Amino acid sequence: MDINFSAQDLEFRDEVRQFFANEYKPTQVSPEGVKPEDDYKDAMIRWQKKLYAKGWIAPGWPKEYGGTGWTVTQKFIYETERGAAGIPDVVPFGLKMVAPVIYTFGTQEQKAKFLPRILSSDDWWCQGYSEPGAGSDLAALSTTAEYAGDNYIVNGRKIWTTLAQYADWIFCLVRTTKDIRRQQGISFLLIDMKTPGITVKPIVSIDGKHSLNEVLFEDVLVPVANRIGEQDKGWTYAKALLAHERTGMAEVADSKRALRELKLRAAAEVNGGQAMIKDPIFQLRLSDIEMELMALEYTELRVFASMAAGGQPGPESSLLKIKGTEITQAIQELQLQLASYYGGALQGDLDNTELGHNFANEARRNYMYGRAATIYGGSNEVQRNVIAKAVLGL
Ligand SMILES: Cc1cc2nc3c(=O)[nH]c(=O)nc-3n(C[C@H](O)[C@H](O)[C@H](O)COP(=O)(O)OP(=O)(O)OC[C@H]3O[C@@H](n4cnc5c(N)ncnc54)[C@H](O)[C@@H]3O)c2cc1C
Repeated sequence: MDINFSAQDLEFRDEVRQFFANEYKPTQVSPEGVKPEDDYKDAMIRWQKKLYAKGWIAPGWPKEYGGTGWTVTQKFIYETERGAAGIPDVVPFGLKMVAPVIYTFGTQEQKAKFLPRILSSDDWWCQGYSEPGAGSDLAALSTTAEYAGDNYIVNGRKIWTTLAQYADWIFCLVRTTKDIRRQQGISFLLIDMKTPGITVKPIVSIDGKHSLNEVLFEDVLVPVANRIGEQDKGWTYAKALLAHERTGMAEVADSKRALRELKLRAAAEVNGGQAMIKDPIFQLRLSDIEMELMALEYTELRVFASMAAGGQPGPESSLLKIKGTEITQAIQELQLQLASYYGGALQGDLDNTELGHNFANEARRNYMYGRAATIYGGSNEVQRNVIAKAVLGL
């Protein structure tokens, strides 16, 4: 793939850069450097609506449904600029997860009803796959949907449902038929979170924040019209979605920015002390990560190129997920080391500068929450099994 940018690409890059610089206002930050939970939803929606107004909210969608029609190179430029500017990615559950399922497998009515409100961020979605007894072994799921005329009656319990506390809709895998091969009895339902019988219970994670939830279903009526595709064929649609989910998890642009900032911080000579960047072991670790990140970037470009040629993300998405999340965690470990090395000095001397602001606090929180990256989206051990089977033929 030719990654030399053409004059048009460079023009596009400048336009994206300019737009981000003019339009993105970071979420208001509290004294501890923590984004207030309550403001998160509003802030994300405000930002996503700006992207929507600009026509840039869904670079991954086909143009006919509201995608940008960008080339692979333009998508790459956009993503690189987003990461470089430290702008969070859009909330993935609607735009990047359920939407591809709806426009690929949904009916005309479903497309007309759901896609425009996903594009405009008027509906907030969450993902109801995992259950207490079904995570890696997702086909063990036991939330049931009983067919009753025009509706299904749903009973069961989903867990680790990210940002369900804000959601208008949840897409769920439910068991519609028992006593056949496990993967064959599953259906894919779109459920309105306001339906009576749904309860959302918070789970506070190790970083002290509330993004995770349990979602309980007690005799919840779901119109049959909200089923994607055929009954009992939900596994096929769910697998397509998971490949999309994992492809987006490499987070190369975000890791590049984190590394750049890490280097700048590590160069600080606080109170005449030695800068951490001069430590040879630190240097070695830093350069290892940089090389791995560069290799990941090229692998990701290859996957994008094959998708641009009409392919679907396949088992390569598992590879991107494993390596991307491992690199993210490696950077978070270095950030924590850096925070420990400088201790209060980094806070004191660099505080209120772009680099020093509450760095130690953020490093600690990022490190803790970051442990989850090798678990969510399908644990990395399970991704290795996928690669062994599908790529290596083992
Ligand atoms: C922060 C976070 C956010 C999440 N958000 C969502 C969400 O929004 N929606 C949703 O549906 N789910 C979500 N999940 C759930 C996530 O998909 C599951 O946690 C994940 O699939 C692992 O399942 P489990 O937790 O049941 O662990 P288990 O499946 O019980 O696995 C436990 C351990 O055993 C290992 N293991 C299991 N099977 C194998 C095997 N065959 N070979 C080798 N090792 C194996 C795993 O790697 C893991 O280390 C989220 C999870 C986290 C941590």
